[in-house]
Amino acid sequence: MHKYQQMDYREIAGVLKLSESATKSLLFRAYETLRQQLKQFVFGEVEESSMNCNQIRELLPDLAAGMSTSTPEVNQHIASCDTCAAHLRDFQSTMAFA
Ligand SMILES: [Zn+2]
Repeated sequence: MHKYQQMDYREIAGVLKLSESATKSLLFRAYETLRQQLKQFVFGEVEESSMNCNQIRELLPDLAAGMSTSTPEVNQHIASCDTCAAHLRDFQSTMAFA
């Protein structure tokens, strides 16, 4: 098994015209990047519907001020996203004192 892996690195190194150790670190970094992106995908977007938090948060000040009406999509997101719900409460309490 180890023998085959070494062969793979050497083959890839040959194709990329890199040293074997450079290829290993390149593959390691590519793997790390992929792992981070997967983590972000799994933990960052698991609660999201079709709208993401950034889009929702742009709407929150207007919603809290009553300058725009909420859509079912936004309501659904806020109901399932504690972070956005907390932001909306923050804006609403700010408006109440204004
Ligand atoms: Zn959110």
